[in-house]
Amino acid sequence: MLPKITVDNSTCLGPISCGQCMKICPMTVFIAGPTKVWKFRETDPKDFRVYARYYDQCVTCNKCVETCPVSAITIATNEKTEAALAEEIAEEVAS
Ligand code: SF4
Ligand code: SF4
Repeated sequence: MLPKITVDNSTCLGPISCGQCMKICPMTVFIAGPTKVWKFRETDPKDFRVYARYYDQCVTCNKCVETCPVSAITIATNEKTEAALAEEIAEEVAS
């Protein structure tokens, strides 16, 4: 069951000003990256954002959600995958 982790970049304080989610996550799910890469020009630090890149490693401990000072992170489980799994189990039980 893969969780869907969303970072609301309109409220997130950014990896340089905050970065608490990156520090607390035990599975290193979050990365910081630029929104745009300029040729021959350094990216402005304010143009860096937090992304949930390695969401497949998430153990849904909720530490990131609890630590975020502006509630910018939401975690939802993939219901489709859960339904498919339930179907699989039901089939196994029936056979
Ligand atoms: S729920 Fe836990 S493992 Fe998942 S991204 Fe947040 S801190 Fe990391
Ligand atoms: S803890 Fe929240 S505000 Fe801070 S970098 Fe992570 S998502 Fe942004």
